[in-house]
Amino acid sequence: IDGKATAQQLRDNIAAAIDTLKQQHNLQPGLAVVLVGEDPASQVYVRNKGRKTLEVGMNSLEFKLPAETSEAELLTKIAELNGDPSVNGILVQLPLPDHINETAIIEAIAPEKDVDGFHAVNSGKLMNGEQGALVPCTPQGCVMLAKQHLGDNLSGKHAVVIGRSNIVGKPVSMLLLQESCTVTVCHSRTRNLAEICRQADIIVAAVGRPLMVKRDWVKPGATVIDVGINRIDAEDGKTRLVGDVDYHEAAEVAAGITPVPGGVGPMTIACLLRNTLVASCLQNGVELPDSV
Ligand code: NAD
Repeated sequence: IDGKATAQQLRDNIAAAIDTLKQQHNLQPGLAVVLVGEDPASQVYVRNKGRKTLEVGMNSLEFKLPAETSEAELLTKIAELNGDPSVNGILVQLPLPDHINETAIIEAIAPEKDVDGFHAVNSGKLMNGEQGALVPCTPQGCVMLAKQHLGDNLSGKHAVVIGRSNIVGKPVSMLLLQESCTVTVCHSRTRNLAEICRQADIIVAAVGRPLMVKRDWVKPGATVIDVGINRIDAEDGKTRLVGDVDYHEAAEVAAGITPVPGGVGPMTIACLLRNTLVASCLQNGVELPDSV
């Protein structure tokens, strides 16, 4: 299941929708990304987000604050962005330095600008199946990739989600439930994990343990969505990225499987752009174009 191509298609559709917004409503969605500190991985993510935001024709604002920024200072920045009508989406790159309370920061973002979908109002709306929720990006991407392989109707399929984090496991479980899947959520205390996975029509692995899901965990013909990003030592003294699924083993039995890299990863940024477009449409009372 080619996440790179699917993400490109989604970004093309978003770019076309933004063109229409500009022409018909004189609107250009804007995304503000706030980075605190110098975490190298976060710097790469933020740079990529900025580049992709501009590529689809949105406005990109980046705020790089020093590691010693206080919680109060960050809250002031968020209040400023909440009040800025040219900013439709606000993303605070996680993790934050230890002296800043992440929950306090997430809850300070105006829910209608919370393009990560982590605010309690958005997770509550997702839980209740309400319209207008901003849904976390990686889970959205997982469901899009599952549908790309299986078609739009996932009704009645048994989905086994491994992981129960607020960022991936829980929200993807809610989305799959909305799609009328029978959802089993597994985690670190689950007994007989392999046996449960073998019953799945769809496996979503979001654990952070390299190559955990093996061939005999996968039912022949199942669809496997691998969210994990793990760096391991490679034979040549270098390192390489692998997922939570042993791709080569699982691919022998699965009907469809996402690679790492090139699977869920590219969908996450594409869905962030989609959320910014959705947020902009909601804030301006404009209908979201069908193509996205
Ligand atoms: P997390 O550490 O918050 O959660 C991991 C979950 O796995 C927990 O709920 C835990 O109960 C479960 N778990 C741990 N050990 C287990 C075991 N032995 N058996 C079964 N379950 C176990 O992680 P997260 O933020 O949900 O991320 C999970 C993985 O997905 C990581 O590798 C992360 O890097 C990756 N990720 C990728 C993207 C992307 O864009 N592709 C986005 C977010 C996270």
